[in-house]
Amino acid sequence: MSTGYYDLPNILCITGEDLPKVMHYYNEPHPYFAQDVVVIGGKNSAAIAALDLWRHGARVTLVHRGAELHRHIKYWIKPDIENRIKNGEIAAHFNTTVSLITEDSVTLETAGGPKVIPNNFVFALTGYQPDFAFIESMGVTLDANNARCPVCNRETLESNVPGLYVAGVVVAGERTNEIFIENGRFHGDLIAADLAVKMKGKSVVKPVAPEHTVAAE
Ligand SMILES: Cc1cc2nc3c(=O)[nH]c(=O)nc-3n(C[C@H](O)[C@H](O)[C@H](O)COP(=O)(O)OP(=O)(O)OC[C@H]3O[C@@H](n4cnc5c(N)ncnc54)[C@H](O)[C@@H]3O)c2cc1C
Repeated sequence: MSTGYYDLPNILCITGEDLPKVMHYYNEPHPYFAQDVVVIGGKNSAAIAALDLWRHGARVTLVHRGAELHRHIKYWIKPDIENRIKNGEIAAHFNTTVSLITEDSVTLETAGGPKVIPNNFVFALTGYQPDFAFIESMGVTLDANNARCPVCNRETLESNVPGLYVAGVVVAGERTNEIFIENGRFHGDLIAADLAVKMKGKSVVKPVAPEHTVAAE
């Protein structure tokens, strides 16, 4: 099971979030040219989307509940977004949350009080979490004392369900920034090595080369 953590976006639970103009996944910038777009969030997804939208002609307002952009934003993205904000090219509200979304506006709760701004689209890029219910439905136990990590043998990644392995970011449960492409790619080796041990002595069907390969030889 290597289903990642993009299945379930973190929901804001505010009125208007279910409007069609509100999205939790960023797609592409062109439909938003000359539109008022709010991007909610303060990490990589929000920073990258805000820059891309701005570069393609959207009027972008970034809204983040924290006092500043997250330190984990990639080192080549962070100065870019910070300079766009400094130049006033991307409007930004820190220490601010969104309390209401309507067809044509968004209400911000700023340190100075509520502020209503015109709005056509919202990208709420506030993080995601693995589909824990799906993982549990397979019989895999989630460790309540360890960020809901699937219970597994760390040497082989076989879960508490014999024959069912976990791989990729789901191995770290709620700590979705612990495993990424660069380290998660080694999980396959561990699983293959364990399968090889388990299959030793069993009759294994040798892969047969496809016909065209044989002919070429
Ligand atoms: C904006 C952004 C930038 C990033 N940049 C980097 C970077 O530069 N370097 C880096 O190392 N990491 C980066 N990451 C993190 C990286 O994308 C993830 O850590 C990585 O993709 C996790 O790999 P995975 O195989 O565990 O899951 P995923 O790559 O998410 O793959 C999971 C797959 O499972 C499928 N799936 C889910 N549920 C089911 C189901 N029920 N049935 C069947 N299929 C299902 C999904 O469709 C998906 O194809 C970035 C993430 C974001 C959001």
